[in-house]
Amino acid sequence: MEVTHDRLVEDLVRFGIERGEWIFLHSSLKSVGWVEGGAETVIGAFREVIGPEGMLIVPTLSPTVVDPGGGRKAEPWHKEKTPSRVGKITDTLWRMRDAHRSDHPTHSVAAVGAEAARYVEGHHHSLPVFGLGSPYPRHVKRNALILFLGVSMGCNTTLHAFEEWIKLPYLGEADALVEGPGGEVLTVRVTGFPSGCRGFYGRNETHVSAYVREKGLVMEGRVGEARVTAVRALDLAQVMLDKLYEEPDFLLCRREGCAFCTEARRKIGESVEEIRARYPVLRGEGLYHGLRGR
Ligand SMILES: [Zn+2]
Repeated sequence: MEVTHDRLVEDLVRFGIERGEWIFLHSSLKSVGWVEGGAETVIGAFREVIGPEGMLIVPTLSPTVVDPGGGRKAEPWHKEKTPSRVGKITDTLWRMRDAHRSDHPTHSVAAVGAEAARYVEGHHHSLPVFGLGSPYPRHVKRNALILFLGVSMGCNTTLHAFEEWIKLPYLGEADALVEGPGGEVLTVRVTGFPSGCRGFYGRNETHVSAYVREKGLVMEGRVGEARVTAVRALDLAQVMLDKLYEEPDFLLCRREGCAFCTEARRKIGESVEEIRARYPVLRGEGLYHGLRGR
């Protein structure tokens, strides 16, 4: 059966989405079913429910990273040309007339809504991808709903922001291609880049998603034909930062013999003091209200 705008609006309201809400949306259009009008209809339904005072945010990641092995070919970044590689809904949203897209070559975000221009501002490649100067702390502070429409919590980029904020030493660097003002192709260095393995990636339940569920943070429902899960960003930050204080390797995988995670654990062992020293900073930023690191 065809999924219509009205059906989507009804499902979103039933899920508990309210006017004025900020939503950070990870999505799969296909999972919603046969939607009359496609991605635009899905975006339109979210916008109708949250109203013009709300904000709909999507990641618009792009294949601009230079593969050190010389394998996959990178495309130069240009925020008005480069497609999003994370699905039709995201690639449709950034192209909308009133959308704003951040100017980050590897991990840009796009948003529509009253505060969208301010939200995407200053996301420059010279600053860490998910750092305090990026859009990420802005939606966390606002306790935005991070919503997974037909996709698993394995694609939760906001978890990388927590890694960055406490300076977990396994975040790396990457070279990305950027189109310069005269059309020339430049190579820029991106820092705080989330390469390598994580224990929360993938389609299935992981020890990380199970923990978030156990803490009672996960809302579940259905929109169109898609299964939907959602978590509140600031609530997630509290639970994860508390956990990472005791177990800074919690977001890594638990497979024996994983070279990346083994090396990452070694680096963590050398920087526990630096990691813990970040907690008062996050408290000062309004991103952490827990009792750790007082
Ligand atoms: Zn691993």
